[in-house]
Amino acid sequence: MAEVKFENIVKEFEDANKGKVLAVNDANFVVHDKEFLVFVGPSGCGKTTSLRMVAGLERQTSGDIYIGDRLVNKVHPKDRDIAMVFQDYALYPHMTIRENLAFGLKNLKTPKAEIEKKITEAASILSIENLLDRKPRELSGGQKQRIAVGRAIVRNPSVFLFDEPLSNLDAKLRVQMRVELSELHKRLGATIIYVTHDQVEAMTLGQRIVVMNAGKIQQIATPEELYENPNNMFVAGFIGSPPMNFAKARLEGNQLHTATHTFTVPKGKLVGYKKYDGKEVIMGIRPEDILSTQLMPSVPTENVIKANLKVVEHLGAELLIYFDIGNDQLTGRVSADAKYKPLTQVDLYFNLKKMQLFDPETQQRI
Ligand code: ATP
Repeated sequence: MAEVKFENIVKEFEDANKGKVLAVNDANFVVHDKEFLVFVGPSGCGKTTSLRMVAGLERQTSGDIYIGDRLVNKVHPKDRDIAMVFQDYALYPHMTIRENLAFGLKNLKTPKAEIEKKITEAASILSIENLLDRKPRELSGGQKQRIAVGRAIVRNPSVFLFDEPLSNLDAKLRVQMRVELSELHKRLGATIIYVTHDQVEAMTLGQRIVVMNAGKIQQIATPEELYENPNNMFVAGFIGSPPMNFAKARLEGNQLHTATHTFTVPKGKLVGYKKYDGKEVIMGIRPEDILSTQLMPSVPTENVIKANLKVVEHLGAELLIYFDIGNDQLTGRVSADAKYKPLTQVDLYFNLKKMQLFDPETQQRI
């Protein structure tokens, strides 16, 4: 069983300039056996530190880490049965690829024939057979990345740790490697913990995602759950591109008054909002839930607003449209068939069945 468990993990750094830095603030989670779990969050939120603590490269200030049934707080990195793939690949430049792949195994005193067998297997899985006698400088970024993964595979660890492994690749290669990593996970049936700041990478790779901000776990959920039911405004704004729109509003009965428009809240949604009747709230609506009435078979009678388009961006099949509600700038994503132009006024339907409300003070979803 290659489960990984964090119990009340806190990590503080002593920084010469900033004093005490709370990098990870009471993290609790379980990575299930064979799960692909992704840590995502902005720079400095504590995701790399979390991964390094699993690897044993960083020691937690307090709390317990388990790998399988084993408490590993005091276990040396090399004895944790993990393999880590770093952002910069960390290949030895003077060694051939074959030697790079063999290096860790030689250190573990693995018999020569077994090393050869493992290298042949990994090379076949990653389609790198023809690269084995080259040096790292003779490889492209994508190929180096594959070798770095190969070096982890030959170790046959119970847990793979990936630290932003795709961030040095160009956009097209990143998409290709993403698909390869997903396939690799299925094939190896391994537990993977993967760190990225890229929410698209997180959404496409993760079976579950841990969203972090400022050292604190904000939510742990499947990609669908994070998108449909974000716990708070941070998660709502971080997951999804373009991000969820937020507009200040006041709830009065079934009416939601923003600075410039009044919306009607669908009956089904009102039940959960009772406590906020008469109070300030933040309305959250995703760009794709703002629709062009032009393209609807019949125009709804409510929740249609006149919007003055400031900017229209053409993405091919879709348009991103920018407009204001009071001081809040909103983005809509509509079909390019709407043929909208900037500096025109258009009718937009807000699908409030899909909106979320947030508490302006706690920023939690209501
Ligand atoms: P990035 O995406 O930029 O790598 P991250 O989410 O992985 O960010 P961490 O590298 O885990 O973030 O850093 C978390 C916090 O801890 C940051 O404020 C960082 O400055 C601080 N930190 C990390 N390592 C050290 C260290 N060795 N000494 C002092 N502070 C550190």
